[in-house]
Amino acid sequence: MSRSFHEQTQGGAPEHVLRPLAPEDSPMLSRTLVVGGFTPLTTIDFPGRLAAVVFCQGCPWRCRYCQNAHLLPRSAQDPLNWGSLLVFLRRRASLLDGVVFSGGEPTLQSALPAAIRGVKSLGYQVGLHTAGPYPRRLQAVLSLVDWVGFDIKTCPDDYSALTGVHSSGRRVMESARLLLRSGVDHEFRTTVHPDLLNGGRLRALARALAAMGVKKYALQECVPAHCLDATLRPAQPGSSLDPALERDLGALFPDFSIRRAGPEV
Ligand code: SF4
Repeated sequence: MSRSFHEQTQGGAPEHVLRPLAPEDSPMLSRTLVVGGFTPLTTIDFPGRLAAVVFCQGCPWRCRYCQNAHLLPRSAQDPLNWGSLLVFLRRRASLLDGVVFSGGEPTLQSALPAAIRGVKSLGYQVGLHTAGPYPRRLQAVLSLVDWVGFDIKTCPDDYSALTGVHSSGRRVMESARLLLRSGVDHEFRTTVHPDLLNGGRLRALARALAAMGVKKYALQECVPAHCLDATLRPAQPGSSLDPALERDLGALFPDFSIRRAGPEV
């Protein structure tokens, strides 16, 4: 039943094309969650918990560094059955602490709140990975989740060039403020590819986040392979950040960390 997050589509990535973002984009209307992948055990995707990860199908964006091309279309080629996953999770309830809804973009799917409630009814804590494209839908699930990993990609004005979608940065800061106001435990994190986010813009983003009240911030070096946009130069580990930049950013946040990319595989 399991299909790992790390099974990544090789080649065949769609072209990077700017397209307009409709207001609140149309949700994926399905009675049950459309699941494109599942990891039965992770120790790194939900801090402090042993967790399973549900990879929700569909994303409104086409980030140039995306590693999950197979999760971007709204329909999965080989979707996993949500009912069967719930049966599996019921059996594992004594072994796991939590379930993370990741993607793709989980808030794209109208079935997400019901899916979260179903998982909570089994006794699990729930984590959510989101990039914040849908503030209203994020607001609707904040009271249901125990932790949010918020993917903040760049400064709002620079979003379109990274995501391939016009005006995609418009609602991200609104989502970020909703999360900060909610009191839900969270982490903000930014994936850094040197072609897409230089040191000056990263400093500007970090200062803006600190001014908003972000306390926990992590940088993730882009995995140097399998980017959606094959024209991106392979990022060498350590090439995005220099010690002075790391020191300056670290001084802005009480809790700051850097996740280095591993060797290319
Ligand atoms: S938001 Fe995430 S899943 Fe969607 S295109 Fe960007 S990196 Fe990929």
